[in-house]
Amino acid sequence: MAVTKTITLDERTARIAKKIPNFSKWVRLNLLDLEHKQTGQIEEFHLAEPQARKWGPDKDKCNPHLTSGLCITCWGEL
Ligand SMILES: [Zn+2]
Repeated sequence: MAVTKTITLDERTARIAKKIPNFSKWVRLNLLDLEHKQTGQIEEFHLAEPQARKWGPDKDKCNPHLTSGLCITCWGEL
């Protein structure tokens, strides 16, 4: 389930954010990186809920055509 958050940026940070193609994805990945640094735990990150992962040869991957982007855990970096 997606949760929408609203953030406030100043002019400098807005310029930086504008250069990041998928800002929401970047925030998600950086939050997970922060969690990993704080806890030492690595939890797989997927863009789709487990019940929606039915793509790929083993029918266990996220939809490769999601508007939010390609799931790196399932499909790797391009
Ligand atoms: Zn995935």
